[in-house]
Amino acid sequence: AKAAGRGKHCFFEPSMHSEASDRQRLETDLRFALEQNELSLHFQPIVRAASEDLCGFEALIRWDHPTRGRVSPDLFISVAEECGLIGKLGDYVIEEAIRQAAEWPDHVRVAINLSPIQFNDPKLVEKVATLLQTHEVRADRIELEITEGVFLADNEATDDTFARLKNIGVRLALDDFGTGYSSLGYLKTAPFDKIKIDQSFVRGASHPKSRNSAIIRAIVALADSLGMDTTAEGVETHDDLNLIRELGCSQIQGYIFGKPSPAEDCADMIERDSVL
Ligand code: C2E
Ligand code: CA
Ligand code: CA
Ligand code: CA
Repeated sequence: AKAAGRGKHCFFEPSMHSEASDRQRLETDLRFALEQNELSLHFQPIVRAASEDLCGFEALIRWDHPTRGRVSPDLFISVAEECGLIGKLGDYVIEEAIRQAAEWPDHVRVAINLSPIQFNDPKLVEKVATLLQTHEVRADRIELEITEGVFLADNEATDDTFARLKNIGVRLALDDFGTGYSSLGYLKTAPFDKIKIDQSFVRGASHPKSRNSAIIRAIVALADSLGMDTTAEGVETHDDLNLIRELGCSQIQGYIFGKPSPAEDCADMIERDSVL
């Protein structure tokens, strides 16, 4: 079959090849980046919708490559997942985020993104518990953001991990809700504290012709009746902010309140919040 297809393949092979080698180079660079401290965390504020008080920050990884410049996590996280580097990268994120939480006041939460692959790491719960102890961080200050992707591997191990995470007392958020695996069945049992409403529903929701407000309203009603908080992500404009408030989301995250920034800059925000 290979020989028969060879003539045809010639046409698009060069671009396929360069795409594969691009990824290969990215992988090599990422491996190096993990050793060379090219990775860091930025933190984006999450505020209460009603009062605009600070709830905490979402930790977002940043990679500053010496020649590529800043590489988007949307690109390199998937590479890390494919080439087996996500474990190491994820461990870095968890440790760095918990270490940072320890430096901030007790009322400030820190949310950490977890790849489904990390979620399936049998050592995950133990790692988190150990770091909380080492850095003396109260478990309920840490919120793990998990996507619907974890339910693709629907098995007892998933349930068990949820139970053990709840048991150590960390909070759980369902990230990018409504954009992935399209089943609601898992909401029957998975012990989420919060649903994060994806930006694709939030941005431009205030436009009169947008159907997004109907979707957001339904998500908020669902979360309310399940006893979960909601965070609207990607709020950029006052019109969207006003609408999101009217629709009853409990928390807001978006450029309107702050872009992801280095931990030093967050200290000011924490300071300002506590004097208000
Ligand atoms: P996410 O978890 O949905 O994170 C929110 C993304 O939306 C972030 O992009 C954030 O900078 C961006 N954002 C927040 N508010 C606004 C807004 O008002 N307007 C716009 N245009 N964008 C906004 P970022 O930092 O580029 O991260 C992209 C994705 O990469 C994340 O999406 C998450 O899936 C992944 N990611 C980032 N850091 C980590 C990490 O430490 N671990 C893992 N596993 N994934 C991560
Ligand atoms: Ca997230
Ligand atoms: Ca999200
Ligand atoms: Ca996203």
